[in-house]
Amino acid sequence: MTSTARVMLGALAGRFLLRMSHVTRRETFGRFVRVDLAGDSLRDAGFRAGDKVQAFLPEGGMRTYSPLHWSGGSTSLLVFQHGAGPGSAWAGSLVEGTEVGFFGPRRSIDVSPVEGPLVVFGDETSVAVAVALSRARPTRAVTAVLEVGDMGEARAALDGVGALLDVHLVRRHPDGAHLGDTTERLRAALGTGGYGVFTGRAASIQAVKRGLAGVEFSSKTKAYWAEGKRGLD
Ligand SMILES: Cc1cc2nc3c(=O)[nH]c(=O)nc-3n(C[C@H](O)[C@H](O)[C@H](O)COP(=O)(O)OP(=O)(O)OC[C@H]3O[C@@H](n4cnc5c(N)ncnc54)[C@H](O)[C@@H]3O)c2cc1C
Repeated sequence: MTSTARVMLGALAGRFLLRMSHVTRRETFGRFVRVDLAGDSLRDAGFRAGDKVQAFLPEGGMRTYSPLHWSGGSTSLLVFQHGAGPGSAWAGSLVEGTEVGFFGPRRSIDVSPVEGPLVVFGDETSVAVAVALSRARPTRAVTAVLEVGDMGEARAALDGVGALLDVHLVRRHPDGAHLGDTTERLRAALGTGGYGVFTGRAASIQAVKRGLAGVEFSSKTKAYWAEGKRGLD
């Protein structure tokens, strides 16, 4: 079977398994793309903040994203276009009316039993999960410590999705020099009883966790991307 035939067959089979939706609104904040999706098959999905969906890309393959919210037959994603990956290209191609199929929602970071404050570490890819966790239970404080390449666009994205978060943005340095300051912010928030949620770049998660040795806290970890790895789930 040719690769084109395989992609077409996959797409056909997928239509029976995927939740099908269409884009009702698209908004950009620098390299961030927010897409609102609606469809009858989104109803009764059993979404919990921290869940993931796997979007089916038209050329084949899947990419994983964190719904900002889910209510009735609609949800929204906030995709960071980091570079030349198929997921970034897909987000750039979406317009009102584009059909989007995806698997999920599925559990990824389940902190629903946690009553106390949450401390989310991550980057641009973690904005959506931090916002979702904050919205899910407004009485539970969420502090987000995010390493980002461009403070202005990250702030615009946070403001644009209406985040009620205590956010600390740290500008990323290619040599990792910013991770010391990042770790200190995390140490302060976790040391006073915060529950850690570690997301984003795998190597940064490892670095800050090394720096937090000796601090006692509970946490969940899910790497969202890693250099050289494609489409982590
Ligand atoms: C559970 C889960 C939830 C996620 N939620 C979100 C979300 O809500 N929003 C979001 O934007 N992303 C999210 N991600 C991350 C996203 O799935 C990855 O960034 C994905 O690799 C993007 O696909 P791509 O086709 O653009 O790049 P790929 O083809 O997958 O990657 C190509 C190369 O680009 C590099 N790369 C990948 N991601 C990044 C990045 N962010 N910055 C710099 N370099 C990168 C890597 O070196 C990789 O080898 C999530 C991932 C997981 C596992």
